[in-house]
Amino acid sequence: MKILITGGAGYIGSHTAKLLSHCSLIPVVVDDLSTGHRWAAKWGPIVEGNLADTGLIRQVLATHKVGAAIHFAASAYVGESMEDPRKYFRNNVINTLNLLDALIDAGLAYVVFSSTCATYGTPAEMPIPENHIQDPINPYGESKRFVERVLHWYGRAYGLKWVALRYFNAAGADPEGEIGEEHDPETHMVPIAIQAALGKRPYMEVFGTDYPTPDGTAIRDYTHVTDLARAHLLALRYLLGGGKSTAVNLGTGNGHSVRKVIRAVERVSGRRVPVREAARRPGDPPVLVADSGKACQLLGWQPQFSSLDAIVETAWNWHSRETKAHSMGGLTRGNGR
Ligand code: UDP
Repeated sequence: MKILITGGAGYIGSHTAKLLSHCSLIPVVVDDLSTGHRWAAKWGPIVEGNLADTGLIRQVLATHKVGAAIHFAASAYVGESMEDPRKYFRNNVINTLNLLDALIDAGLAYVVFSSTCATYGTPAEMPIPENHIQDPINPYGESKRFVERVLHWYGRAYGLKWVALRYFNAAGADPEGEIGEEHDPETHMVPIAIQAALGKRPYMEVFGTDYPTPDGTAIRDYTHVTDLARAHLLALRYLLGGGKSTAVNLGTGNGHSVRKVIRAVERVSGRRVPVREAARRPGDPPVLVADSGKACQLLGWQPQFSSLDAIVETAWNWHSRETKAHSMGGLTRGNGR
């Protein structure tokens, strides 16, 4: 079966495409390559384009006859969303409506949607269960929450079957080293700490040291990207097997502070991570940790690579390999992977 993967050249999308291709499914990637990479989409056809282009989506569906869709394509920086909410509502809401219209018109019933723990806002309960109130504190979370509501109503009206996967913090890289996290600019904790350890940036900033947490820094539930990829496969199987539409947290249930992640990077790399303490980043809640029971019960999902050390090790291997390749004479991702 062919599966449409929007944003399949991006970080989580590419790891999911790889896993699907190893399970006899053909990922058909649509990606505008604004943040994704052509080198990361190598497990099936890739169509370069944006979901604002409704004609393109319909053409892809007519050509490829996919059986289901996994929808990753979105803007996904909390900080940027605070400064440029228009971009977030346009990319994440309007473009998703375009996609859903095309899927419904093509008679496609199954969608797995990339949602986020940012839909919960500042949680009143920890770990966070799926039935926790959703009250986002940034436009990114708001845009994802809106799409979850759209899915709910489209399910009722048009019979769309969906699973919204609410990611906590995706991190790590393909354990086989074929793909990894590559954002420009990079804003995420683990790669930034690694870049600081590698000397690719002079230091990393610790955003907020006055949070009400044991060491004063923010706590997040880091989940390995390969584990996230597997959850998409399981969600597809669940839907195709007649499962009811629902939202599911993807996290490990373990929280790690910014300082703890920095220590893990220092341990794994054997290098120092130079840091500077900075103000809190707007839009960041103090603690986000998943109640991950539902993913296990409903989908049979068990994280395999999500210990902090496994996350940091795979990420370190990915980022330091690039450094080695460059120092060996210019082998780059574009032609080397
Ligand atoms: N963070 C930090 N310095 C950085 C990048 C991130 O202190 O250079 C913190 C950030 O404030 C948050 C945590 O690390 O508390 C995870 O941030 P990230 O951007 O990786 O993911 P997010 O939680 O925004 O999805």
